[in-house]
Amino acid sequence: MPSGAALSFSKGQPARTAIAGGVMQPVNIIGAGLAGSEAAWQIARAGVPVVLHEMRPKVETFAHKTGNCAEMVCSNSFRSDDDVMNAVGQLHWEMRTAGGLIMSMADKHRLPAGGALAVDREAFAESVTAALTADPLIEIRATEITELPTDGNWIVATGPLTSDNLAAAIRKVTGTDALAFFDAIAPIVHADTINMDVAWEQSRYDKGETEAEQRAYINCPMTRDQYEAFIDALLAADKTEFHEGETAGYFDGCLPIEVMAERGRETLRFGPMKPVGLTNAHKPDEKAYAVVQLRRDNALGTLYNIVGFQTKMKYGAQTEVFRMIPGLENASFARLGGIHRNSFLNSPTLLDDRMRLRPQPNLRFAGQVTGVEGYVESASMGLLAGRMAAAQAKGQDLAPPPFTTAMGALIDHITGGAEAKTFQPMNVNFGLFPPLEDVRSGRRGRKDRYPAYTQRAKDDFSSWLAAQ
Ligand SMILES: Cc1cc2nc3c(=O)[nH]c(=O)nc-3n(C[C@H](O)[C@H](O)[C@H](O)COP(=O)(O)OP(=O)(O)OC[C@H]3O[C@@H](n4cnc5c(N)ncnc54)[C@H](O)[C@@H]3O)c2cc1C
Repeated sequence: MPSGAALSFSKGQPARTAIAGGVMQPVNIIGAGLAGSEAAWQIARAGVPVVLHEMRPKVETFAHKTGNCAEMVCSNSFRSDDDVMNAVGQLHWEMRTAGGLIMSMADKHRLPAGGALAVDREAFAESVTAALTADPLIEIRATEITELPTDGNWIVATGPLTSDNLAAAIRKVTGTDALAFFDAIAPIVHADTINMDVAWEQSRYDKGETEAEQRAYINCPMTRDQYEAFIDALLAADKTEFHEGETAGYFDGCLPIEVMAERGRETLRFGPMKPVGLTNAHKPDEKAYAVVQLRRDNALGTLYNIVGFQTKMKYGAQTEVFRMIPGLENASFARLGGIHRNSFLNSPTLLDDRMRLRPQPNLRFAGQVTGVEGYVESASMGLLAGRMAAAQAKGQDLAPPPFTTAMGALIDHITGGAEAKTFQPMNVNFGLFPPLEDVRSGRRGRKDRYPAYTQRAKDDFSSWLAAQ
């Protein structure tokens, strides 16, 4: 194990709390990362005992460097702290308002970073570890859990690098296809920023029983010159490398578009960009040389993903290259593409809205393994799972926050709003929020729309908290 503080683990019997009529059984959490740490804190704040099982430092991952709780494995940023104009900033606000440990320690160890919330990662993780270790209701055990318990009140928060043994146990319960080991994320576009004077709605060969199905895709046509320029830009773009320990061999089924382009200039035109079975609604007599298709990504219809466009291009390069696509010149991206080692469930089919595993409801999932992506999103799902598990331990039920809030929008997306067939991890973004009437759409309307979303979210989140 490389240098870094290691946990001091408490030993002995699990904490138990006396309640009228007996002893309250602890909630068990697997994984003391961003989500598990926040969940443990929330449960203890509710007066319920917790046992937190963490495999590090005994069992290592390729990305973690210490034995600390809540270690940030890559960047030291919690992204934008603007709670008026930014959905991540709004999520910060909700976590602070709910007394979140992760946000309070991030604030304590904040570094200068303009509008972003960057933290001193070591001091941050050490403080989280110290706070959890000092709490009399929390017991931390240095153990790898390799089987899924069939009873009790458990939270699985094992993250993108869930250990192989546990992943195998999860797959036994969920089925092999329901727990992915890698994400392959195609960029996602805010629907109201697509230029429909250029693009049109149509499924290939008009397939589908209903009109909605026959118009399920948005198509962006390219001339030969546009296609050639696009391929040149793809080949020249800056790419990110796989992290040490990630294996590129897993990606054969979903190659990055730039790798497809490297295999031959025509590969994409015979792959995801094939122009067959489509008629340009604006120019029916003109045959496109290539077509980029976008598919609906959420039930609200506010987000569309670019089909087959998973990529390892750097973010700046992606925006530049994808805006070359006719119809996407002014596109605003809810998230950009990526491919990473990432264990995550097909949550829309597997989790109920209390984050419980449908086939085995004594297990609640939290954090990145649920299909959210990023430190803040993962910690926020830990916060919710912790509060729900604590309510359950007390014989109560806690409903998720309304989906007009950042946390509510995220949990709604992963447990039902997202398309299950194409489910890939998601960051929080305004495309997940239910649209407001009487507010301008499109990129130009953002100045009015975003403050309206965040104000509504603050009001609704405060009411949700006050009702507990
Ligand atoms: C290489 C890499 C780079 C990343 N870069 C960024 C970034 O720059 N910015 C960003 O926002 N996000 C990044 N992420 C994602 C980020 O790591 C996650 O969003 C976040 O850590 C998820 O929190 P979590 O609690 O769900 O998982 P984690 O923080 O990973 O915590 C899970 C914990 O579970 C433990 N565990 C796993 N299996 C078991 C088991 N069987 N028994 C007991 N314990 C177990 C692990 O040791 C770990 O401590 C990156 C992820 C990876 C893999």
